[in-house]
Amino acid sequence: MEVLIVICISVVCVLFYFFHKKNIEYIKKNSICLNKILNLNSKQNFKVLNVSQSFCKNCNSKPQFDNFNIDNYMNGIIDENLDKYIKTIDDLKYNRKQHTFYQNQFNSIMNDNYNYAQLTQNTILNEFFFKMLEKFECERIKLKPALELTIYVSVFYTSPKGKNHYNKRYKINSNNVEYYCSECLKTRRYKQSAKYQRALMTDKLRYQVLCRDGHRCVLCGASAKDGVKLHVDHIIPVSKGGKTELSNLRTLCERCNLGKGASYNPNGYN
Ligand SMILES: [Zn+2]
Repeated sequence: MEVLIVICISVVCVLFYFFHKKNIEYIKKNSICLNKILNLNSKQNFKVLNVSQSFCKNCNSKPQFDNFNIDNYMNGIIDENLDKYIKTIDDLKYNRKQHTFYQNQFNSIMNDNYNYAQLTQNTILNEFFFKMLEKFECERIKLKPALELTIYVSVFYTSPKGKNHYNKRYKINSNNVEYYCSECLKTRRYKQSAKYQRALMTDKLRYQVLCRDGHRCVLCGASAKDGVKLHVDHIIPVSKGGKTELSNLRTLCERCNLGKGASYNPNGYN
């Protein structure tokens, strides 16, 4: 019932809007309320954002379609554009904060009856409809900034010969995006950590380094035949930001390695 009333009133307002442009012009000139709102609007600096994004993923096989993991997919997307998404989330938070403030000021202008234009003999409408029209015009110019980000992900698979089509759709909101961003940052921080670099040191990589260096200490030339134990050493120590990759690894005998410890001289011989 209430909805019906609202619809009827809206229809009436729309009709008045079209048929009484003169009155609108009169309101624009004389409404304190409308002018206060225009003034309020001019002071806002909401961030302009693209609030809806969509991505498509075409799968190569049915299992790939079935096992599609939205979290992994989104982590990939966010990781590629992490700075951009962090900025979007910050901008949305800024807009929400500003919007609460704006909304309060807007309401206080609208609720103050003294702000409405006074009827003069020039107007055709009676006061009730006139005020309604005035309110309608005020609502129309109300700013609607971006407050939410929505990302749609569509996943497709079409069987060979095009017999069967499968699709599913995911909807990701601002909170999800914020969560993905924080996870991405955590992963990035972990990948820069010494713990992660040590975890990269696999038996396979160790063997590769030993083979490359001919199973000999690159400093003193000792090998297992001389009864020494061979270590794989980080040239720039992990604790000083060294990476676990072939170019930063070398074979050292136990003696040379223990003598070196975690020291590293960026300008000297190591
Ligand atoms: Zn040695």
